[in-house]
Amino acid sequence: MINVEDLTKTYGKLEVLKGISTTVEQGEVVAIIGPSGSGKSTFLRCLNLLEMPTGGRIAIDGVELTDPKTDITRIRQNIGMVFQHFHLFPHMTVMDNLTFAPMRVKGLSKEEARAKGYMLLERVGLKDKADVFPSKLSGGQKQRVAIARSLAMDPEIMLFDEPTSALDPEMVKEVLAVIRDLASTGMTMLIVTHEMKFAREAADTIYFLDGGRLIEKAEPERFFSKPQSERAARFLEQVL
Ligand code: ADP
Ligand code: MG
Repeated sequence: MINVEDLTKTYGKLEVLKGISTTVEQGEVVAIIGPSGSGKSTFLRCLNLLEMPTGGRIAIDGVELTDPKTDITRIRQNIGMVFQHFHLFPHMTVMDNLTFAPMRVKGLSKEEARAKGYMLLERVGLKDKADVFPSKLSGGQKQRVAIARSLAMDPEIMLFDEPTSALDPEMVKEVLAVIRDLASTGMTMLIVTHEMKFAREAADTIYFLDGGRLIEKAEPERFFSKPQSERAARFLEQVL
């Protein structure tokens, strides 16, 4: 579904991605781990062209992202992204956050968008929060709304960049449960995370990035029990 070939990204003289190649299958759940500054966020952001790659190619469903003829807006609609800081619209209720883009971009009627909104709120356990403003929610609740808002656009792919890093410990679980549930529905997902237990249990594949390179790509059991590279072994020693 996603095909990445020799992806590079530089900022001025700084080479942040040094030639990443990989393929993500439909329904695959990838956990991306690695030290701070290794290029994890940049990699995710290149996948939906929040950053323009410097070199290489990315194809999604066979469509070349960097081809000038490609309709980037349509591709982006197909890819949901959830950030560390939730980026909800603060002046809108939870329901309005959920219905805004589906009505504006997908042309859903208000009734259709709200029906879908309620269904998604139920799915993330927040049906009773439809009419409150984001400022009244806990961090965990905000992040669950942010996930529901992404899902309201019916994406084929979901990208998560450290979705639980800004949360108090007691709220991490409720957000991971929602992501785990989504994984079980067959959604294609790439998740940058520091939650090693979650990565081990929920991912099909672990990507270990270091210094802008995809150093290891492995099944969780193998990666965590027997990392192949010295760098991954050292990283795991520090975080486990
Ligand atoms: P990670 O998410 O793994 O912590 P990032 O992808 O955020 O790593 O960053 C990788 C490197 O690229 C870091 O050295 C960071 O400072 C640099 N970087 C990221 N974004 C920019 C930018 N917009 N301009 C310049 N340097 C950047
Ligand atoms: Mg990052």
